[in-house]
Amino acid sequence: MSDCIFCKIIKGEIPSRKIYEDELVYAFLDISPINFGHTLVIPKEHHQSAATVPENVAGRMFAIGSRIGILLKRFDEYDGYNLHLADGTVAGQVVMHVHLHVVPRGAEDGFRWNWRQQQYPEGRADEIAGILAAKLREKIG
Ligand code: 5GP
Ligand code: ZN
Repeated sequence: MSDCIFCKIIKGEIPSRKIYEDELVYAFLDISPINFGHTLVIPKEHHQSAATVPENVAGRMFAIGSRIGILLKRFDEYDGYNLHLADGTVAGQVVMHVHLHVVPRGAEDGFRWNWRQQQYPEGRADEIAGILAAKLREKIG
């Protein structure tokens, strides 16, 4: 896509600090890292949403992201990593070329996900699980 900054990065029209490239995916350092080494893994083909990325490409994104996460643990300050993908503006997606964040984590990194834990009202969890399972069966078989 011609006006997409990540497509431009893949084509070399915008510079990036490349970590990895193959026929399906491209990985590079995020310009504004949560922690140093924060990496983005993107499909070479433009997709806005993870839902339209072919399974083999999505699988490669996950595999490469996990390997980079493990490698980041070799840096002294990191003991783990988060894989994060924002799909849609309300989910925090800013660049509309799907990307998997690999965020290295250390015990003292001072970063916290703003994670909450709600309670389902009576019957709601069964209802939601039922709807999702039925729709998925319909689509995937
Ligand atoms: P999102 O919020 O869409 O999940 O994340 C977009 C990410 O892309 C942000 O973390 C941002 O720092 C990164 N980013 C945006 N523009 C550029 C760029 O031109 N180069 C690089 N390397 N990263 C970028
Ligand atoms: Zn793109």
